Amino acid sequence: MEAIKTDVLIVGAGPVGLFAAFEAGVIGLTCHIVDGLDRVGGQCIELYPDKPIYDIPAITSCTARELVERLMEQIRPFDVPISLGERVQSVEQREDHRWTVCTEKGTTFDVAAILIAAGNGAFVPQRLQVPQADALEGKSVHYSVARLADFADREVLVAGGGDSALDWALALKDVAKKLTLVHRRNGFSAAAASVAAMKRAVEAGEMNFVVGMIDSLDAPDDVLRSVRVKHVDGTTDLVADELVVLYGLVADLGPIAQWNLDVRGGRIEVDTSNYESSRPGIFAVGDIANYPNKQKLILSGFHEASLALRRAFAYAYPEKKRVHVHSSYDAKLAEKVRSA
Ligand SMILES: Cc1cc2nc3c(=O)[nH]c(=O)nc-3n(C[C@H](O)[C@H](O)[C@H](O)COP(=O)(O)OP(=O)(O)OC[C@H]3O[C@@H](n4cnc5c(N)ncnc54)[C@H](O)[C@@H]3O)c2cc1C
Repeated sequence: MEAIKTDVLIVGAGPVGLFAAFEAGVIGLTCHIVDGLDRVGGQCIELYPDKPIYDIPAITSCTARELVERLMEQIRPFDVPISLGERVQSVEQREDHRWTVCTEKGTTFDVAAILIAAGNGAFVPQRLQVPQADALEGKSVHYSVARLADFADREVLVAGGGDSALDWALALKDVAKKLTLVHRRNGFSAAAASVAAMKRAVEAGEMNFVVGMIDSLDAPDDVLRSVRVKHVDGTTDLVADELVVLYGLVADLGPIAQWNLDVRGGRIEVDTSNYESSRPGIFAVGDIANYPNKQKLILSGFHEASLALRRAFAYAYPEKKRVHVHSSYDAKLAEKVRSA
């Protein structure tokens, strides 16, 4: 596959990565955003979409979801390509000083600079900690549902009590032979409407609900037969062909930790004059960046991205002198925004 050539690769489509794409456009840099998740928004969308945020300059209050929508609207004039569902994996500097960056899926980028806006790292599913779970992953133990049809006429057990667990249990009950939801308590951290729909489905006999914790798997020859669930009265063996574990996401710095950067306590040390890491040409901004008195705030990330990209310009166009123009005087920008 041919490498995608652009000025800056932005790793992470959280609020800071999205704003960085806007700043790149304003400065005259091309960029491409990559995120391991299948949607943009980072923590704002994964952790608190409906909570109001009050400390974004000039916005009295907006929900985290609205903020992400506004950021997407702001970058629209620049037609920024965004690759989702791809975690950035390896990085290599070439003799011409440009970087080759590869994702887990084999997409390759040829870039002058890299802006890491990876928050706390890539979100990965919290895995089931019982023997055999790892061996069965991708066979009968799943951490996501790619195609409902794969579960047709199967005895399916969904584990978890959040939005994903309830939404998928409700969707899977319509295709599965039998659907059982297992959660450690009779209370849920999901939207009230989903909880009500689940309770109605249980009363109507369309699915089962069991309170308990998964204790072990019975899977002779790596074929899942049943799941043992522990509860206050002892244990129950539930027949299951497929187990879908939706315990939420945990952040993991993952492959970036192997990029020979100065990483301390899971965060990348940067120079605060331009948010460059210990490897010139690689920048870290937003929650992943660390420096004395760093505040993990969206507005800090916006400022960091803006300075980092001004330095990145020198890597992309060493022969050019960038002249600063206030956006209010930037005729090209005004035209782009008008015609978007
Ligand atoms: C409950 C809660 C409330 C908050 N309220 C506020 C508030 O009111 N005001 C405020 O300013 N801040 C608030 N914050 C903090 C704010 O959300 C963070 O500071 C902000 O999200 C950081 O943005 P970011 O873009 O740096 O990282 P993130 O939002 O974490 O996004 C990082 C993205 O990078 C991706 N990624 C990571 N590694 C890779 C990889 N290897 N390859 C590809 N993609 C990768 C991740 O999947 C993720 O989408 C709150 C946080 C929480 C949890």
